[in-house]
Amino acid sequence: MRTLRTVPELRTAVRAARRQDPTGAIGLVPTMGALHDGHLELIRRARLECEHVVVSLFVNPAQFNASADLAAYPRDESRDAGVASDAGADFLFAPSLETVYPPGFATSVQLSGPIAESLEGAHRGAAHFHGVTTVVTKLFNMVQPDVAFFGQKDAQQVLVIRKLVADLDLPVRIETVPTVREPDGLARSSRNVRLQGDDRPLALALRAGLTAAERAFTAGARDAGTVHAAALAAMTDLGVAPEYLALVDPLTLAPVDAIDDGTLVAVAAHVGGTRLIDNTTLGTTPNGRR
Ligand code: AMP
Repeated sequence: MRTLRTVPELRTAVRAARRQDPTGAIGLVPTMGALHDGHLELIRRARLECEHVVVSLFVNPAQFNASADLAAYPRDESRDAGVASDAGADFLFAPSLETVYPPGFATSVQLSGPIAESLEGAHRGAAHFHGVTTVVTKLFNMVQPDVAFFGQKDAQQVLVIRKLVADLDLPVRIETVPTVREPDGLARSSRNVRLQGDDRPLALALRAGLTAAERAFTAGARDAGTVHAAALAAMTDLGVAPEYLALVDPLTLAPVDAIDDGTLVAVAAHVGGTRLIDNTTLGTTPNGRR
């Protein structure tokens, strides 16, 4: 695996890969590093589906709404390089802050409407997804991948990226990879390393809430209020209050009154000083896609 730091270096490498194998797909896995099994699953999927795999590693300040969260974000590039290489990446694109945002950078790609403005957009502020859509547009232009891989763990982000790609006619296919969890059910996240002592068992409250929603649905509940109450009780029983716990349409993110196969349950909560998110799709439809 080669590590590339500048756009000219990256373009030369990707161009050479295309020349060598004109029909081979270029796959991109965008990450902020601190790679864990969730990221590795994305890289493995890219390896299976694409001839050339680029993993990007860039902690994007523009999508952090809290400076303490940005400062505490775990970083270990040399470890990440080893892990990405073992998982099958051909290239690690690890640009500097100045490469992505050179002095005088003045453009922002902004998605409006409920897909970007609800849930994470409402609670972290509009700037969060503006930061995501701006950096992802840049990464797509830098790498020019045929396929890009995103995790269902960030279900709203997947919808935001799909809308960005559709609205701007970006020539890239978006693939979604199911959420990878710890053995006890906690969704893998780079922020999990910050869960110290008593916070680690408390973090299971998110999954407990989602499991309670799944159980209520399986038992026949179709009223959003009933399912919400079951999920909320499971969380508060463990001593965690959600920042939001929402039952929404999996494509529009509009709140639903009547639960359907495919309804998305999305949750965010602070556990100690760490903000965690998770989600599940009710019924049998995988990944909230009808
Ligand atoms: P991040 O480094 O947190 O920005 O995540 C990079 C990519 O990995 C995003 O597409 C995430 O949705 C995805 N990802 C993060 N955690 C998981 C997980 N537990 N399972 C699957 N994908 C994940």
